[in-house]
Amino acid sequence: MKLLLVEDNASDAEFLAASLRRQRATDVQLVTVQTLQDAVTLLCQAAEPPFDVVLLDLHLPDGSGLQCVDVIQGVCDTIPIVVLSGQDDEEFAVSILNKGVQDYLVKWEGQGRTILRSIRYAIERKRSELRMNYLAQFDALTGIPNRHSFSEQLNRATARARREGRKVTLLYMDLDEFKFVNDTLGHDAGDSLLKEVADRLRRSVRAGDVVARLGGDEFAIMIEGLSGPLEVEAVAEGLIKVLGEPYHIAGRQLAVTASLGITMFPSDNSDPQMLLKNADIAMYQAKEGGRNTFRFFTQRMHEELMEYHELERDMREGLVRDEFRLAFQPKVNLLTKRLQGLEALLRWTSPTRGEVGPATFIPVAEQSGHIVPLGYWVLDQVCRQITEWRAAGYPVVPVSLNVSARQFQLPDFHQRVAEAIARHGVDASLIEIEITEGLMMEDTGLAERCLDYLKSVGVRISVDDFGTGYSCLSYLHRFPIDVLKIDRSFIRQIGQGSGNEEITDAIISLARSLQLETVAEGVETTEQVDFLVTHGCHVAQGFLFGRPMDATGVEPLLGELRAWMTETTAIRRALAVGAA
Ligand code: C2E
Ligand code: MG
Ligand code: MG
Repeated sequence: MKLLLVEDNASDAEFLAASLRRQRATDVQLVTVQTLQDAVTLLCQAAEPPFDVVLLDLHLPDGSGLQCVDVIQGVCDTIPIVVLSGQDDEEFAVSILNKGVQDYLVKWEGQGRTILRSIRYAIERKRSELRMNYLAQFDALTGIPNRHSFSEQLNRATARARREGRKVTLLYMDLDEFKFVNDTLGHDAGDSLLKEVADRLRRSVRAGDVVARLGGDEFAIMIEGLSGPLEVEAVAEGLIKVLGEPYHIAGRQLAVTASLGITMFPSDNSDPQMLLKNADIAMYQAKEGGRNTFRFFTQRMHEELMEYHELERDMREGLVRDEFRLAFQPKVNLLTKRLQGLEALLRWTSPTRGEVGPATFIPVAEQSGHIVPLGYWVLDQVCRQITEWRAAGYPVVPVSLNVSARQFQLPDFHQRVAEAIARHGVDASLIEIEITEGLMMEDTGLAERCLDYLKSVGVRISVDDFGTGYSCLSYLHRFPIDVLKIDRSFIRQIGQGSGNEEITDAIISLARSLQLETVAEGVETTEQVDFLVTHGCHVAQGFLFGRPMDATGVEPLLGELRAWMTETTAIRRALAVGAA
C-alpha cells in the first residue's frame, strides 16, 4: 500500500510515520511531501495514480481548507483522501466528509492500528463510490453510457451548440431481429449480441461522439457538428453497413439488421427531450419503411436528401448530354461607357427541369465532385470562345471565370489552367480567375503557391463577392491579387441611406491604396453608377449594362467596341498629325 502524506509540519509527519512503523506493516510505503505543488507533481507523473491514498493536511504553505481537497481532486478524482485535522478543527473535517473526502484523522491521536484502519476504510469507501458512480452512468452489460448519462450529455451538447450556432445530430437505433434472437437462442445469446452491437457502434464513431444504450435493444448516438442531411446520410449508411455484417453468437452465424431514426438540433426541435422522442418516431418510420434503413424525423430533411440525389444524377447525365453552356455578362468601363471585360457564367438547361440556376446546381456540383470536370469544361470553353472572337476579327477583352474551392484545392489546378491557355494559344492576361475570400483562408500555403504560379503565367486574379467573407484582410497583401469585385449586397444599398455606402467607399479606398482594380457587381441604377464614379470605382457589371447572354449576344458589343477603337485611333492620329 503506497501512501502519500502531504504535511509541512515535520513533527506531525514524524509522529504519523512512527505510528505506522510501530505496526510493522511490511506492505506500507510512505512518501512525504510538504506542499500541494509537490503532491500534484507526484500524482501527475503516471496515468494511473501511483498511490493508494492521500493523507492530507489542511494547513499547507500553498493552500488551506477545502481548497487543498479541490486541488488533489482536480488532478486525480479516483484517489481516496484522508484529511488530517487538529483537535480544534475536527468539526470542519467531519463537515467535508462528503466533498470528496473519505475519512479524517485527528493528529496525535490514535494508534497506528486506528490510522491503518481509517486508511483501509477510506480506500474501500472510495472504491464503492466510484462503482456507484459508474453504475449510475454506464450500462452494466455493454459498458457504454446509459440513458440517464446520455440525456445529460445531450443537454450539455445542445446548450453548447446553441451558444456556438452548431448542430447536434441524434440517431436512435433499434435492432430488427432482437426479440427473435432472444426468444429462440436464449438470453445469453441476446446479451452477447447486444455487447457486440455496442462494440461495433463504438468503433464506428469518432472520439467525441457518444454511443449509449437506452435500454433493451435500443441505442442512441449523438454527433456534434455534422452540417446537413448529406453528411448524416453517410454516417447512417456506415452504421447500417457495420451492424449488418454477420454476427457469430452461440456457435452460429446470425444476420441482424437495424433501423435508425434521425433528428437534428436545432432544425427539428430545440428541446433535448423532444429530440429523443423525434428520433424514436423516425426510427418507427424506418421500421415501417422496410427495416434495415434510416429515416429523418422531418419530411423536409428527407426530401432535401432525395432532391440532392436526383439533382446529382441529372447533372451527371447532363454533363454527358452536353446540357451545359456558358453565358457572358459584360463589365463596362463607367468613364468610356465601353465594354471592358466579360464574366463567364454557367448555365444548365435540363430536359426535365428546364433552366436551373447556378445557385441550385453549383453546391451540388461541389459536393458531388462534378464541379471538377465542369470547371475544366468552363475553362476550355472560355479559351475557345476568345480564340473564336479573335479569329472573327473582334477586339479581345479579358474574360473571367469562377473557380470553386473544390477545383482550386486540386494539386494540379494551376498546371491545368496554364495548359489550357497554351493549348488554345490565348494571351494569359485575357483570362481572369474569380475566387472567393474563404478559399484563400482554407489552406493558405497551397493557395499562395497556386496563385503565385498563375500570376507568373500571366493570369489575372480577382476576389469575388468581396466584403461578404472573412474580415481578415491580411491576405490582400500576401496574395497576388489584381481585382476586388465589390459584392452586390453593398451596391444594392447605395442611395438607401443605410450606412453601407460607407463600406463601399472604404472598399474602393482600400483597393486604391493597394493598387487593385475594383469592379462593382450587380449595378442596376444610374444612381449607383454616379456614386461609383464619384468614389473612384470605374468598372461595373450588372443588369443596367446587360444580363448574362450567350456568345452571339456579345458580338454586337464587341463590334461597338471595335468601331469605337477605330474611331479613337483615327482621332488620335489626326491629333498627332495636327500637333506635328
Ligand atoms: P457570381 O460570380 O457573383 O456571379 C454574379 C451573379 O450575379 C450572376 O448570377 C449574375 O447573373 C448575377 N447578377 C449580375 N448582375 C446582376 C444584377 O444587376 N442584379 C442581380 N440581382 N444579379 C446580378 P448567376 O449567374 O446566377 O451565378 C450565381 C453564382 O454561381 C455566381 O456568382 C458564381 O459564384 C456561381 N457560378 C456561376 N458560374 C459558375 C462557374 O462556372 N463555376 C463556378 N464554380 N461557379 C459559378
Ligand atoms: Mg463571379
Ligand atoms: Mg460575385
